[in-house]
Amino acid sequence: DFEEEQQRRKKPRRGANGFDAAAAAERRKRIDAERRQLPAWAARDQLLSLLQQHRTLVLVGETGSGKTTQIPQFLVNARFGFGSGTGQTSVKPRAANGVDQDPGDAGPSTSGRGQANGAWGGGGGNCIAVTQPRRVAAMTVARRVAEEMGTPLGQKVGYAIRFEDATSPATRIKYMTDGLLLREALVDPALSRYRVVIIDEAHERTVSTDVLLGLLKGVQALRGDDFRLVVMPSGALRGDDFRLVVMSATLDAGRFVDFFPGAVAGLIRGRQYPVQVMYTARPEDNYLDAAVCATLQVHTEEPPGDVLVFLTGQDEIDSAERLIKDKLASLPRSQPATVGEGAEGAGEGADGADPSAPAPAPGGPDSLLVLPIYAALPPEQQMRVFEPAPPGVRKAILATNIAETSITIPGVRYVIDTGYVKSRDYNAKLGLESLAVVPVSQAQARQRSGRAGREGPGKALRLFTEADFGQLEQTTPPEITRCNLASVVLQLKAMGIDDVLGFEFMDPPPRAAILRSLELLFALGALDAAGKLTEQVGQRLSRLPVDPMYGRVLLAASDMGCALEAVAVVAMVATENVFHTPRAKEKEWRSARLKFVAREGDHLTLLNVFRGFSELPKESHKARTQWCSDNFVNIRALRKAEDIHTQLLRFLGPPSPPGLGLPLRSCGDDPTPLRRALAAGLFPHAARLQPDGSYRVLATGRQVFLHPSSVLLDRKPPALVFSELMHTTKTYARDATAVEPRWLPELAPTFFAAKAPGQA
Ligand code: ADP
Ligand code: MG
Repeated sequence: DFEEEQQRRKKPRRGANGFDAAAAAERRKRIDAERRQLPAWAARDQLLSLLQQHRTLVLVGETGSGKTTQIPQFLVNARFGFGSGTGQTSVKPRAANGVDQDPGDAGPSTSGRGQANGAWGGGGGNCIAVTQPRRVAAMTVARRVAEEMGTPLGQKVGYAIRFEDATSPATRIKYMTDGLLLREALVDPALSRYRVVIIDEAHERTVSTDVLLGLLKGVQALRGDDFRLVVMPSGALRGDDFRLVVMSATLDAGRFVDFFPGAVAGLIRGRQYPVQVMYTARPEDNYLDAAVCATLQVHTEEPPGDVLVFLTGQDEIDSAERLIKDKLASLPRSQPATVGEGAEGAGEGADGADPSAPAPAPGGPDSLLVLPIYAALPPEQQMRVFEPAPPGVRKAILATNIAETSITIPGVRYVIDTGYVKSRDYNAKLGLESLAVVPVSQAQARQRSGRAGREGPGKALRLFTEADFGQLEQTTPPEITRCNLASVVLQLKAMGIDDVLGFEFMDPPPRAAILRSLELLFALGALDAAGKLTEQVGQRLSRLPVDPMYGRVLLAASDMGCALEAVAVVAMVATENVFHTPRAKEKEWRSARLKFVAREGDHLTLLNVFRGFSELPKESHKARTQWCSDNFVNIRALRKAEDIHTQLLRFLGPPSPPGLGLPLRSCGDDPTPLRRALAAGLFPHAARLQPDGSYRVLATGRQVFLHPSSVLLDRKPPALVFSELMHTTKTYARDATAVEPRWLPELAPTFFAAKAPGQA
């Protein structure tokens, strides 16, 4: 199949004149053929019949076997629960291609194989929700499935993530983040819009997934307990019309099956080729450099095949991309024909090779296409990792953990695993949440290596020693056992689940963490002393799609006459990567930044950037692009902030749902009301200056340092509030605003009386 691979690669991407109808049809045909080869296809009928028999199906299958993209389509095409009448299926029998399911799992079917096509009677919604732990996955998968179904994205197939909704009333398959479905459960506890809910990537055990699993147990109870389907004389089915599918890439189906009464497990047996795993002889002191070297080594020494590199975040990926391009530029050039269009060229880098040029030399500087993929990347760029490379070119995909199981990139033969991942961590005793770079678990390392063996034998380079591998944790504990639960507890309370400690979690979080969040919510005024949601604050906070502390900032701001400013600040804080900070132009961006700097701190600085951007004429794309490039800010981030801003205004403003009907006023140029509003919500993150120049968090006594990017760094105020902590070598406070120490006991009297006697 090496031949085949070569053939596939030689196919031109598109004609010189761009796209034509024939090419589009050709592409559809190819995609269709690819789909039919997926292991999920061979299991189709059996899966449908299992789902007729059981209200919960736990589906296990290797990453890349077609769970996420195919299963929802099977359900829709089989008219599973949709429409009326007999329903039709256009699926023809197909040859088994070496893929089968666990025969023991298939119970006797009342309707028989191939008849999973009856429309269901009864009420309920007509949509399938498919949850993803990550926004990128929801978007890229929706786009792919829309293409497979030949419909525009947002119609029959759509996606929804926080602050972005690409669905319509016609939507039948809705890919969404697990967090968003959780929000929907808040207003519609029975999830009545959905006939089927698919919890995908359940093995990731994100907080939202875990809470959803608990809630879905309740939804099943709400939506009828007669789950045996009855075949009506007409062929239609009757009975409980709600179905739950839990999909996972790892084999621990048992936990899920045990959790849901009457659940059944189904296995999609995939293909996996052997992967040769290699370790480094000695520990690496810099895994980023090591990853860059390993990438080039694969490129110059190994036969064709794309490389997938696991890094931890955007900054790292950006640096790695730059470093790889620098090193490529110094490789010997053996192709005179390509002189002048090198990878180091200004602007876009090594993309868009000229199809008429001769194929670049293997292992040379022009035959490596470096492609990043991470959440904050613009969608068009995200989609580029899925496109086959031009002939003779090798792709090096620099990815965050997203490529571990959420998305599958065709063509990968080599995996480079740094052995690290960015992970949420929470110290319940200190009440501090942080994102930290931590070693992966053994299970994660195996999963990553496996990505090299999907289409043929592969190689995985682990940038750590075999002994270090032995020291890694076996598996990663569920996120819910190590995160700040304030949002979760607030949402459960808002759903009327008062006994949060008694909620049926698959793995209950530590008691201390739950108690901590109850305390925090009490301090914010969201709960009363009896632990009931308060109407003034709690009810409102639960409706706002932001962290409860920021929600509190917004409510306080509307009282203090600065809601417009606060909404802009929260929108900016919720946006990642606002600033461009190219190393080569440090002097330029630093001086451009100066005109936005507010002496009160980072939040007001962000506000100034937002204001500057909003003052530009909205319709002039050119003016906006120019302004952003002059000021070293990221136009996508600002457009995103603008979007969030609009949505938050909708949540606060108009007095009909979702609006809370709060006054939206501006404080103009007076920064004090806004600083007070920030203090009123962020007081759990209040800190005081210490003689040594560090800060001490009042609530916990912990020592933290101002982040080097803070505008307050050279005029450290006696007291401040900050957005978040980041751990690297030290603990840094990010996005800080100077506050008056006396505001704190005034704005949060119970908190400061109880937490830090004599401090403030
Ligand atoms: P699973 O959910 O079981 O991991 P998926 O349904 O996500 O599998 O993917 C099935 C196959 O579809 C993948 O192996 C890949 O080849 C292909 N695929 C998925 N998304 C895309 C995409 N955006 N572009 C091209 N191919 C894709
Ligand atoms: Mg998947």
